[in-house]
Amino acid sequence: MKLRFAPSPTGHLHVGNARIALANWLFARKSGGHLLLRLDDTDTQRSRQDYAEAIEEDLRWLGLDWDELVRQSDRLDRYAAAAEALKASGRLYPCLESEEELAFKREQQRRAGRPPLYDRAALKMTPDQLSRAMANGKVPYWRFKLSNTTVEWQDHVLGRRAVKLSAISDPVLVRADGSPLYTFTSVVDDLDMGITHVIRGEDHVTNTGIQLDLFAALGGDPRKLAFAHLPLLTDADGGPLSKRIGSLSLRQLRRDGIEAASITGYLAGLGTSNDPAPGAPRDLLPGFDLGAVSHSSPRFDPRQMMGMNRKLLHALPFAEAAPRLPEGATQAFWDAVRGNLDTLPEAKHWWEVVQGHIAPIPQPDEAEYLAHARENLPAEPWDDTTWTAWTEALKAISGRKGKGLFLPLRRALTGEDQGPDMKQLLPLIGRARTEARLAASLQP
Ligand code: GLU
Repeated sequence: MKLRFAPSPTGHLHVGNARIALANWLFARKSGGHLLLRLDDTDTQRSRQDYAEAIEEDLRWLGLDWDELVRQSDRLDRYAAAAEALKASGRLYPCLESEEELAFKREQQRRAGRPPLYDRAALKMTPDQLSRAMANGKVPYWRFKLSNTTVEWQDHVLGRRAVKLSAISDPVLVRADGSPLYTFTSVVDDLDMGITHVIRGEDHVTNTGIQLDLFAALGGDPRKLAFAHLPLLTDADGGPLSKRIGSLSLRQLRRDGIEAASITGYLAGLGTSNDPAPGAPRDLLPGFDLGAVSHSSPRFDPRQMMGMNRKLLHALPFAEAAPRLPEGATQAFWDAVRGNLDTLPEAKHWWEVVQGHIAPIPQPDEAEYLAHARENLPAEPWDDTTWTAWTEALKAISGRKGKGLFLPLRRALTGEDQGPDMKQLLPLIGRARTEARLAASLQP
């Protein structure tokens, strides 16, 4: 089995791309197949080297690897040769119509209530007409003559699928400047590289009809190529995810402190009945089954992904968190704060709270209570029994209980209304800091 993940380096990978990459990786690794990373970079206007590098980096960060890297820009000679072969067999024909002419024709068709299909006028052009036009400085671009058939395949996700080629305009495969288009280069590569399974987004279903026809025209056997189209993700309200895609790039999520395994675990569960759980790609292998992916578009809900991240951090051992925690952070610190984090970088704030400075919350109404609290601070050493001992004593003195007993102390000691368990935080803050913070909160 041979698979490929084929991003175009025209931007950063987002969660939608990551889902496709992950599905290809899981399928390849589960079946012992070979996985290509193919950079679809023939669009020289939009492709960028820094995006290509970022794609590799983001995939590695997710925990994905590949067996071979192919750049389409290295294969231009091969595409040119394939184009010549198609010209020779009469399947690739020159066209001269400008974009304006084509738009005008489409408008006329629309008015006549007909579908805006390319009318193949260029096929009627004689060699003479073509050479005269070229002598006048016109340069042709090239269209593929689609068969008059309906292409069918058994999709691994969508089930039986058919694309009626007579309802589609002959696609342009080669631009006037000689550069080949994705529709074409992808098929040449799938054929040359012996790809057996194409896993990609549902937005490519029509392409699959065209590409299977092209595959056959290039001498391939379409039966050797299996397809799985994953329904596209929608946003939490069911709308297209594309609107929000900038904030859902892997770069941005990583910057926001989301763990890779929260993303992969969440994506792998989408559209399946599996209970979503965080997991690095290799941990997701046992539960992976392309056949169990639903036909309908799953919702991508960032809040659910964040929930996954919380779950992951809650269970993350100190040894794994330590390299990314502030210098000096201890196991006790991690145990105290991890249950309270949305993202790991937030630990820095709690490290400031226990070891650095806080922004005091003025509590003028609590002066008397806080003065009692200060006078009754237990002697050192402090451990996780200290908080209970201290607050029990304060309860007896003040007659307070619940929130009235605890909240002024939490505010004075952490500068926050909420946070990790005070039992665990208090010994980390230590007696000297506790005393100083109580004193500070007594200042008018
Ligand atoms: N470069 C194409 C894309 O990013 C690849 C689609 C395919 O897998 O064939 O949509």
